[in-house]
Amino acid sequence: MAITKTKLTLPTLMIPFRILAWFRKTECGGALDGLVPKSKGYILGHMRNEKNIIKIAGAGPAGIAASLILVKAGYRVQVFEQRSGVGRRFNDDYQGLENWSRQEDVLTELVTAGIKPTWWHRPFYGGVLYDPNLRPIKIASPQPLFYMVRRGAIYPQSLDLALLNQAQNAGVEFVFNQRVDPYFANIIATGPQGIPGIIAAGITFKIEREDFATAILNDALAPAGYMYFLIADGQATLATVLFENFKEVQGCLQRSMESVQRLFGITDFPNLKRWGGYGSFSIPQSCEQNGALLVGEAAGFQDFLFGFGIRNALISGVLAARSIIEGRSYDELWRVRLLPHLKASLINRAVYRRLGNVAKRGLWYMTGRNKRPERFMRWLYNFSALHQALYPFVAVDQSQGNRI
Ligand SMILES: Cc1cc2nc3c(=O)[nH]c(=O)nc-3n(C[C@H](O)[C@H](O)[C@H](O)COP(=O)(O)OP(=O)(O)OC[C@H]3O[C@@H](n4cnc5c(N)ncnc54)[C@H](O)[C@@H]3O)c2cc1C
Repeated sequence: MAITKTKLTLPTLMIPFRILAWFRKTECGGALDGLVPKSKGYILGHMRNEKNIIKIAGAGPAGIAASLILVKAGYRVQVFEQRSGVGRRFNDDYQGLENWSRQEDVLTELVTAGIKPTWWHRPFYGGVLYDPNLRPIKIASPQPLFYMVRRGAIYPQSLDLALLNQAQNAGVEFVFNQRVDPYFANIIATGPQGIPGIIAAGITFKIEREDFATAILNDALAPAGYMYFLIADGQATLATVLFENFKEVQGCLQRSMESVQRLFGITDFPNLKRWGGYGSFSIPQSCEQNGALLVGEAAGFQDFLFGFGIRNALISGVLAARSIIEGRSYDELWRVRLLPHLKASLINRAVYRRLGNVAKRGLWYMTGRNKRPERFMRWLYNFSALHQALYPFVAVDQSQGNRI
């Protein structure tokens, strides 16, 4: 075998230094130095090779939850966010951290997992639900049905900013304005992907009224979905959530505003900026792809019935972190903790869509005429015997490419 000898001339000796200099000029080198690169392009693809540093793509609730648990376990964690800060996908709007899908209170569940609820939150024990004919019914539960939270980058105690503060104080490093190729991160927390399954549009405004929560189940206001109107501390959020006929979204918002004016005697809305958003859901086969772990909506973890994704996002982030810390299979962890709820919500959506107003009236009746509505909701969000019996038919339907 011929062996070629390379002469170690001065230019040859300089090659490694030139490569190093080039690397440090690139976005990846900048990011690793803790600088804040401005480029929207993907950073280079060897992020995952660095030892003992966990890279997370996306600073939503799922990514930040994972970062918090990991940093507390002694890992160095970097979170890359494509926007200039956290919560920029939201609009200072109220959302509900649902408390009906599990026996355990969601705040206790988070504290046990290692996440302190340092964000503003208010328990809601009920509200008013309207059926398709706009008949109201009061829902009252002895336990909080949901915790109202505020989203976005404006209110200092929003879910997003409070999570960011908690993570930064614990030592997580954030790199903003940095879009990364998710598959070069250890954890992919990049939010909704692919074709939207839910579209929402709404407004946020000041109002002098008592705290209040209402939802209307009416297809003219929100096809196959619902509209909601939430008030707390002199601020209101009104939004429509569509699961069909997405082109109708602006008309639905307009009709929703008119209905709220009529039903609640609101004379006029100030000149408001309308906002919108979307969500996507799927039941993944596996959330371990090319060595990366998918969490939150990036994995498709959503509530198929009504789009309550925050709890799934936070818990899946915690589970991904635990799988890294404990060397356990992430697929096993999320299948035990999340899969039954995902399957139940898939059935719920199929039934809700097929039965139309019958399902809406059923929900209205079962929550409004029930002294323990939280028990009915827990049954609805768990994979009961009825859900299990229906699942093969809905799963087949989905595999044939039909809409659920
Ligand atoms: C209008 C609206 C109302 C909602 N109301 C409720 C509600 O009342 N209750 C509820 O439980 N859920 C609600 N949801 C859903 C809930 O907000 C989401 O399920 C939740 O935020 C998902 O969290 P996540 O961390 O998975 O993703 P996201 O919150 O979407 O965060 C993902 C982050 O990743 C960043 N990112 C994306 N790609 C890249 C990349 N390549 N590189 C770097 N960064 C990237 C994004 O900018 C974003 O900041 C609502 C959603 C909308 C749109």
